[in-house]
Amino acid sequence: MSGDLSSLYNEIITDHKKTPRNFKIVENATATIDGYNPLCGDKVKLTVRTEGDLITDIGFVGEGCAISIASASLMTGAVKGKSVAEAEQLFETFHAMISNPTSIVDAKALGKVAALGGARQHASRSKCASLVWHALHAALTQPAAESVSTE
Ligand code: ZN
Repeated sequence: MSGDLSSLYNEIITDHKKTPRNFKIVENATATIDGYNPLCGDKVKLTVRTEGDLITDIGFVGEGCAISIASASLMTGAVKGKSVAEAEQLFETFHAMISNPTSIVDAKALGKVAALGGARQHASRSKCASLVWHALHAALTQPAAESVSTE
């Protein structure tokens, strides 16, 4: 990763931590998932509304470290308005990046979400980054599930 890209990614993380996007509880949500990362103490409540195959609204509330909040902000921004299949594809691409410290980051597919890639260098940080994505995956594939945990 070049120095310029690395500082751009740091700016994105800082911006999304300071001003989280979609920080809200969605009305008439079709899935509500509580995510908890006991290792760090990150807690997020993800609410999603799907209509047909489309994610029409998504939001999160909670508290946690910079990485967990920035990840939730970036994820919700990336999948809002997308189809369930597209969001699941993004989850798979993100998961492949975050769970393997030596994988090639697919910056084209991930867009700003690629900024979270630095977290994969540390197993504990990668859990902070992936928490809300596991909540998304649960919301889309088993909406009746109420919670996910990184442990
Ligand atoms: Zn954390």
